[in-house]
Amino acid sequence: MLMVKKFGGTSVADKEKIFNVANRCIEDYKKGNKIVVVLSAMGKHTDELISLANEISINVPKREMDMLFTVGEQITVSLMAMAFDKLGIPAVSLNAFQVRMLTNANYGDAEIIKIETERIQAELSKNKIVIVTGFQGIDENNNYTTLGRGGSDTTAVALASYLNADSCEIYTDVDGVYTADPRIVNDAIKLENISYDEMLELANLGAGVLHNKCVKLAKANNIKLVVRSSMSNLERNSCI
Ligand code: ADP
Ligand code: ASP
Ligand code: MG
Repeated sequence: MLMVKKFGGTSVADKEKIFNVANRCIEDYKKGNKIVVVLSAMGKHTDELISLANEISINVPKREMDMLFTVGEQITVSLMAMAFDKLGIPAVSLNAFQVRMLTNANYGDAEIIKIETERIQAELSKNKIVIVTGFQGIDENNNYTTLGRGGSDTTAVALASYLNADSCEIYTDVDGVYTADPRIVNDAIKLENISYDEMLELANLGAGVLHNKCVKLAKANNIKLVVRSSMSNLERNSCI
């Protein structure tokens, strides 16, 4: 099976969490699956990059903001590749330029136009785990772009679609999609099966657990999504 697994910022926030993610991926790799891992920037790094930019100016050029944003995901993918190496598993990190993840030039809120799959397929056929930067793309002039905050979810779904993956799992810091934010609403109920439209409604109401563009893309390409916790091995997750 070809599995796309996306891990958000809190799931890769420090060394222990990076090794936790690596070990979870290795479990499936050792069963003979091909693994593509999509990662976000560590913890709140993207917010820190915004603060850094705002020290220069509160009105920074959007192209330069995207250039800065891409650093966050690049740190995570390279550290993750180092963790796999330490654990004796072949892996390679790739950014949007190396993959060739093409978007329009709408900096800060770009749309994916096409993902070239040759490089990823070539690395997978060498039995490597492929670790890809979420959130970023390149435009036709090779400028970096980003997909909007929370956009790594969209990268994962787009990759699953272009690679014709057998599964697309979104790992995060909660164990599924709830009727409301479980960190705010105590009696929120976990939804084990949600339609794309119900999920879109929740995302549009601000449920940041999934980027709304990612839900639209999943619906358009009929990609089944599983939202699960990166910290626990619960079998009962949310399926969209
Ligand atoms: P990641 O860094 O993994 O992408 P996010 O912070 O983007 O994580 O999304 C996960 C967060 O979404 C949870 O910590 C939770 O507080 C919030 N959230 C908001 N609404 C919901 C919901 N309806 N169901 C689950 N989580 C929700
Ligand atoms: N790192 C980006 C953000 O914080 C993308 C993501 O996490 O999905 O918005
Ligand atoms: Mg997110």
